Amino acid sequence: MAQVDYAVRQTATVEQRVDAIQAALDARGFEASQAVDELGHMAQEEWLPRNGARVLARAWTDPAFRERLMADGRAAVMELGLPMPKHHRHLVVLENTPTVQNVICCTLCSCTAFTIIGLPPDWYKDLEYRARVVRESRTVLKEMGLDLPAEVEIRVWDTTADTRYMVLPEQPAHTIGWPEDKLAGIVTRDAMIGVARL
Ligand code: FE
Repeated sequence: MAQVDYAVRQTATVEQRVDAIQAALDARGFEASQAVDELGHMAQEEWLPRNGARVLARAWTDPAFRERLMADGRAAVMELGLPMPKHHRHLVVLENTPTVQNVICCTLCSCTAFTIIGLPPDWYKDLEYRARVVRESRTVLKEMGLDLPAEVEIRVWDTTADTRYMVLPEQPAHTIGWPEDKLAGIVTRDAMIGVARL
């Protein structure tokens, strides 16, 4: 029986395979390297939680905008010049109240309204969070530092490919009357996901 030479048959590393696919696409004129660079730039410079922070600050200070945002989130954020990919067909904004806390997840994978609230953090993609937040949301939130009184109802929303969510947190009482810019500075990504309050 012939000996198998494992040194020769070793599988290429992920990096080598990615490079090979990219080079093959580039060679055929698909400009894969350029697309990767562009996506990297968007992810690091453009798709940031500050976009959602702007939206929420506007919603807190402009009741007519808030109404439009609740009615059609996608149209309202685009009104502010913020991008939404075509396949994010709906942006549903979930309003927190003193007795309701909304939380978002993607039980299947990692979907978020990433152009608005930023790319999902690692814990959001973790199987632990995805599996547990829907079954024992109160416990998961408590573990993440949000210990809600029993009278606060927790509503968990499972993202789909075409329906994305954003939580509209309550405006903290001490910030009433603040200008929009300053308000945007207190909004966090975690509050827009619903695992923190402000
Ligand atoms: Fe997903």
